[in-house]
Amino acid sequence: MTSEINNKKQLCEIGKRIYDKGFVAANDGNLSIRISENQFLITPTGVSKGFMTPEMILKVDRHGNVLEGDWKPTSEMKMHLLVYKERPEINAVVHVHPPYATAFAIAGIPLDQAIMPESVVFLGTIPVAEYGTPSTEEIPAAIKKYVHNHQGVLLENHGALTWGNSLDHAFYLMESLEFNAKINWLAKQINGDRELSQRKVAELLSIKTKMGIRGVSPLGAETIEEINAKKITPALERSLSEFDINLIVERVTKNILDSLNNKD
Ligand SMILES: [Zn+2]
Repeated sequence: MTSEINNKKQLCEIGKRIYDKGFVAANDGNLSIRISENQFLITPTGVSKGFMTPEMILKVDRHGNVLEGDWKPTSEMKMHLLVYKERPEINAVVHVHPPYATAFAIAGIPLDQAIMPESVVFLGTIPVAEYGTPSTEEIPAAIKKYVHNHQGVLLENHGALTWGNSLDHAFYLMESLEFNAKINWLAKQINGDRELSQRKVAELLSIKTKMGIRGVSPLGAETIEEINAKKITPALERSLSEFDINLIVERVTKNILDSLNNKD
């Protein structure tokens, strides 16, 4: 089992990575690790996560009482503790404000499109948890309904939260979440955010099931068995995207203009 000091060092290391990647500005963001059933290491408030040292890390219990440490824990501790309470197998939580994902959170748009195979298999869908005032019970209450069936959420008008079986896992999920939001945004700029067909998503879900990965995917199901139980027809192809419609409008317009020009 990893020693407490190594866990603290890892929190500092991941803190540096979220800062260097631009996932947070100034003193934003917070990270935590479960070290026993009811004890957690968590980052302090009012400190840049890019420049933390192990002695700044706090040890708290499941009620948020500080057991060890001279600093003040993050004011957003309640949402970390909610995740640990609801998902006993979860060992780490990452909360940051990555620009693309936060833009989706501000627009209120979930990351639920099947645009890339990796995101369907490893990330699943990321819903938007309704806005809550930071540090109040509103945010944990909003997260509660999504925490069991997803690997992370967008926090409306705020940022993003991921949870995993290790700090590396939770961080990689956050990296994938932000990457997915960025690619989604870029594809939208060229009207090309075309989705994979339901048949292709169903194939990916069978891979996901074999790998034992949890979390709802774009067809609204977690496993291939659920797809079958819901009798989702895998042969359905994607509906017309905006890209197709623009192309059709362009061609029809050209045909009409051509026929008008040829009239006399
Ligand atoms: Zn925040």
